[in-house]
Amino acid sequence: MSDADTLFERIIAREIPAEVVHETETTLAFRDVRPQASTHVLVVPKTRYRTVAELAAADPQLLADVVTTAEEVARLEGLTESGYRIVFNTGDDAGQTVFHVHAHVLGGEQLGFFGRYTDGA
Ligand code: AMP
Repeated sequence: MSDADTLFERIIAREIPAEVVHETETTLAFRDVRPQASTHVLVVPKTRYRTVAELAAADPQLLADVVTTAEEVARLEGLTESGYRIVFNTGDDAGQTVFHVHAHVLGGEQLGFFGRYTDGA
């Protein structure tokens, strides 16, 4: 894994545009550019940790902030009653592509099952 700045540091620094839906002192929430559900928002801590495991070990309060922001995003997006999914992809097998920990908040429609890789066929 690279230690170079990721895309998400540049979004946090407002060097790359993103559709921000919520911000706190410690977190930023913005819409995923390739949505996998009617609502698909990413929540990142403003301090970089590469994975949720690293974040949990180093700063449990910041992990709590990320989850609290995800819950607030769900409320703002009208998902609280209908339900939603919070996902932290971790590592290659899970398809993590950006190594700045992020929660995916997915909802707004009935979500599919998840698990083993399929090519969609
Ligand atoms: P992951 O595969 O779990 O690492 O998630 C990375 C996510 O970042 C993917 O769902 C991408 O669609 C999303 N993404 C990539 N570039 C951007 C961008 N510029 N703005 C918003 N989301 C992005």
